[in-house]
Amino acid sequence: MAYGANYLAQLGELLVISKRIVFLTGAGISKESGIPTFRGDSGLWKTYDPAKLASLSSFLENPSLVWEFYYYRQNLIRKCQPNPAHMAISKIERQKVDTWVLTQNVDNLHKMAGSKNIIELHGNIFIAKCIQCGYEGNVNVNMALPPKCPNCESVLKPGTVLFEEPIPQKEWDRAIEIASSCDLMFIVGTSSNVYPANTLPFHAKDNNAFLVEVNPEETCLSRLMDFSLKGSAAKILPNISDLLNQT
Ligand SMILES: [Zn+2]
Repeated sequence: MAYGANYLAQLGELLVISKRIVFLTGAGISKESGIPTFRGDSGLWKTYDPAKLASLSSFLENPSLVWEFYYYRQNLIRKCQPNPAHMAISKIERQKVDTWVLTQNVDNLHKMAGSKNIIELHGNIFIAKCIQCGYEGNVNVNMALPPKCPNCESVLKPGTVLFEEPIPQKEWDRAIEIASSCDLMFIVGTSSNVYPANTLPFHAKDNNAFLVEVNPEETCLSRLMDFSLKGSAAKILPNISDLLNQT
């Protein structure tokens, strides 16, 4: 699809007539804020492979070490700010109240940008959870390692979904419900190879939703899309949110 005024005009109409709009977002949108992904070539933390460390088995084996790694990641993320792509999504939600963010990111940037309808499929790095009693709360580096649950004294787990852990059922059910009932879905900065989040566009398609991909590269879902916009989300999404002002 050519990247020109024609697609913008069509998207402008779609934005106006769509009732429920979904943004499915992944690491690519956060990368433009400088968030490290700890995948691929981002290297080791101390002598550990971050991908192995962020797993349930590593946590059960050595929770203090995993927490040390999470505090390190929290500190890196605290230095980052939402970028124009996050801001554009929150701006669209202010005008179209049934707009939802289904995100695979754990960095809190959508919330910082002002979005309210957010489902964090992979959790939030600034929250800690108790597997035993369901407690959720904040932790800070001054607590003894590993941090303990104030209710039941169990070791708290980072509030992100670790490798070897499923997406929490409540969030997943809600995400499917929202994807299955949307009219327009933007798939932003996700390589679409992370299961099961990559199945959500199919639920939207089953509802005859219009699918728009925003990604610098082609993905395995590009063929499913009605529009595939190649480029930076921080550049493309503000153009799209501006369409609502012109109508
Ligand atoms: Zn507890």
